[in-house]
Amino acid sequence: MLKHQYIRIVIVIACVVAAIGYLYDYWSIFVFVIVAFIGLGLTVWGVFDIRLGYFGKIHFKASEKRTKEVSLTFDDGPCPYTEQVLNLLDQYEMKATFFCIGQQVLKYPEIAKRIIDSGHSIGNHSFTHRKDIAFSNAAEMATEIKLADDAITKITKSVTPMYRPPFGVTNPNVIKACKATNKEIIGWSIRSLDTVIKDEKRILNRIVPRIKPGDIVLLHDTSERTVNVLEQLLIKMKDMNLQSIPVDRLLKIERNG
Ligand SMILES: [Zn+2]
Repeated sequence: MLKHQYIRIVIVIACVVAAIGYLYDYWSIFVFVIVAFIGLGLTVWGVFDIRLGYFGKIHFKASEKRTKEVSLTFDDGPCPYTEQVLNLLDQYEMKATFFCIGQQVLKYPEIAKRIIDSGHSIGNHSFTHRKDIAFSNAAEMATEIKLADDAITKITKSVTPMYRPPFGVTNPNVIKACKATNKEIIGWSIRSLDTVIKDEKRILNRIVPRIKPGDIVLLHDTSERTVNVLEQLLIKMKDMNLQSIPVDRLLKIERNG
């Protein structure tokens, strides 16, 4: 797995060598520019692709071999659509994980309680999910996580060891905030793009041909579209003998309560 500390050291050394090469007329300034661009590109890639674990440890699929278990995960709830998602999961006897926004938990406490009472698990997805959250410093991010923890614990009496950063954006501050709040960072191996793609068949086709034991699937319990896709997905999963279990169980992360 890529580790940003090592890559950064390699890039800095490469930049220094390229700069010395340029100063002593061994090669052109473009060598330095290209090396610097590669370094910048890798860092940007690491920020936006949670699967790289570029800035620290991120779980994005089961490390141990699984025979039929996967984890369906739903972000940005709870909201009224969550009830329809819960109904379908009950009907097809699947368990999932809901990465909840703290504010939404306080707004829909009964739905949050139903998630836990139905045997699913809840993860922390920040308190506000504000758009500029990725630009917060580590202390501000830790406050977002703690406020969401407080809401989740107050309503559901459970404590979650899991955090999923909003928009899947990771950086050194996210890693620091998770260390300070004792959270495991949970990503995904399959992104459905259910908030972006309008066509339900296309969303389903992003998941079904790729899904295999150990995968973590990212969905959002925030639209009718996802509810429709979910029903089709659950039918296919039954055919494929795939069982969804809560992601903390898939990854063998201990629940705190
Ligand atoms: Zn989100």
